[in-house]
Amino acid sequence: MGASDDCIFCRIVAGKIPALRVFENEDILAFLDIGPLAEGHTLVVPKNHHELLSDVPEAEVEAMTRHLPRLIRAVAEGVGVEGCNVLVNVGRVASQEVPHVHWHIIPRKPGDGLGYRWSPSKYPPGRAEQVVKRITAML
Ligand code: AMP
Ligand code: ZN
Repeated sequence: MGASDDCIFCRIVAGKIPALRVFENEDILAFLDIGPLAEGHTLVVPKNHHELLSDVPEAEVEAMTRHLPRLIRAVAEGVGVEGCNVLVNVGRVASQEVPHVHWHIIPRKPGDGLGYRWSPSKYPPGRAEQVVKRITAML
């Protein structure tokens, strides 16, 4: 898919609006998030426009993700943290605001107050098996 003038990340990729770039190759661009959850919060975007990670053709995934390990290491070492959350929001219901695939690399520090509301529940008897059937039927 080609660059879209309506898409803010396509405009950043094209150099039409500024960003603080930390890495670039022919497939991806990494730049600082303009509203960082922590110092060093970095976004990694494919140069091709796809709205959702679930839209990306399999053949393009490797080039998009190949450099994630070293970008994560560079961000963590660069800002002096021992770990990061790496996440992709897929869809508006999952808090995706910018409709162009991106990975967030968010440096974490003990006691930084970031994180999910993570409230594990339990399946009632038989329900998990039904859910597995429904998901596998879609593959
Ligand atoms: P998401 O909610 O997963 O779509 O995240 C979108 C992210 O893009 C947010 O963290 C924003 O702060 C960030 N963002 C939006 N516009 C810009 C921009 N012009 N430059 C850098 N980051 C941006
Ligand atoms: Zn785009």
